[in-house]
Amino acid sequence: MMDLPQYTPRPMPSLDRIEVVVADITTLRVDAIVNAANESLLGGGGVDGAIHRAAGPGLLEHCKTLGGCTTGLAKLTPAFGLEKQGVKHIIHTVGPVWHGDEKQKLGYTLEDTLLASCYHQSLTLALEAGCQTIAFPNISTGIYGFPKTRAAKIAFGHVLGFLDKQEHPDKVTLCCFSDEDASIIQDAIDTREDWMMNRKRM
Ligand code: ADP
Repeated sequence: MMDLPQYTPRPMPSLDRIEVVVADITTLRVDAIVNAANESLLGGGGVDGAIHRAAGPGLLEHCKTLGGCTTGLAKLTPAFGLEKQGVKHIIHTVGPVWHGDEKQKLGYTLEDTLLASCYHQSLTLALEAGCQTIAFPNISTGIYGFPKTRAAKIAFGHVLGFLDKQEHPDKVTLCCFSDEDASIIQDAIDTREDWMMNRKRM
């Protein structure tokens, strides 16, 4: 009998693995939801508050045992009350508070590096945990004041770079809380050829 050639699935082009949606992130059915937390990991306002409310008190009890999280890093927890909709993990990452100078080129502020690190650390934890799907909020662009267009380029650019190298997660959702935020990210994606070659790779 003739041996069949081994079938190796070709990875999807990275750009097709990124989607932009407008939603409350706590309603998504993904393997991992990323939380834009603060260093205490003990809950806060914005998306952090919404995730804690949706996951229930078990999440806070668990987070109390973690000893906080340094800015730019990430920690993985169970999804508690969000498990009933199929979420397996919550990945808590701490974005930087923006103190930077917008005149600096993209990638050249400490805040840029720390924000890129949040995406990198979260995607690495998701990869290690075997997640196929993951959703990110627009980290640092709320209370932490990171300029939205700059953050959109870092988020998209870093996720794309990660997916170019890794076959998992299969799908990354950039979850925006308003149409305006989604159009900022979409614009960063549509104009990527203009700005990507001039940025510092992080
Ligand atoms: P940070 O402190 O990192 O700036 P915020 O929670 O203040 O975090 O804001 C981060 C982003 O999350 C903002 O774009 C905000 O509009 C958005 N956001 C707030 N609540 C939700 C939610 N329930 N789902 C998705 N995004 C949300």
